[in-house]
Amino acid sequence: MATRRILLASIHDVSPRFESEVDRLIDLLSPHIGIRTAMLVVPNHWGSAPIVPGSAFATRLRSWADEGREIFLHGFYHRDESRHHGPSDRIRARFMTAGEGEFLGLSAREATIRLFNGQRLIEDVIGKRVAGFVAPAWLYGSGAMEALADAKVQIAEDHLRVWSPASGRQLARGPVITWASRSSIRRGSSLAAAFALRHAPMPTLRIGVHPPDVRHPSLVRSIERTFDVAGSARTPAAYSDLL
Ligand SMILES: [Zn+2]
Repeated sequence: MATRRILLASIHDVSPRFESEVDRLIDLLSPHIGIRTAMLVVPNHWGSAPIVPGSAFATRLRSWADEGREIFLHGFYHRDESRHHGPSDRIRARFMTAGEGEFLGLSAREATIRLFNGQRLIEDVIGKRVAGFVAPAWLYGSGAMEALADAKVQIAEDHLRVWSPASGRQLARGPVITWASRSSIRRGSSLAAAFALRHAPMPTLRIGVHPPDVRHPSLVRSIERTFDVAGSARTPAAYSDLL
């Protein structure tokens, strides 16, 4: 092969709230990519599912990290509770994310506080550094961007690229394959997008799965097929391999 094409997979919204769904996703992906799944962890999903050090879930989180899975911080509460200024941010926040874009409207100060608190909690639990940060719904406001650069976060990603806030360097580009489960229209369009993108030739292909995906058999079939196709043509890799 002339160029080495890689596959980056991630499980979003890893939280005690979705423990059984996350287990199903791990079972679904493991035959294709082993432990090469980044785990995107929410410290306290919606303010009502805290990760408590010493709990059974914390022990599982540590064992995933010990297996070699990359652990990313994925927001703090996940839900967007800030007031948005300007119509475009308001529209983005409401329609694109169902209100899940926590880091879209935060000031740099508030983003920094949540970033540090989240990192401290997760790193205490797993006993090592987190690999990076991925904003809920992949939405970053200017305050979030400033906080990530200040904190020298190694890796971040949005819909279209992976970059290093610490160095400002772009690490990979190209859309991420993901499935939306909220309505049948969204499910239909995400099935079509996955069908097209899993054959795409870009050097780095990203696939992101979410806990509610496992509740829809059509999405589960599409996820399996996508990993079949992409996994046979690509080498599963870690995000940190891009650095
Ligand atoms: Zn998420």
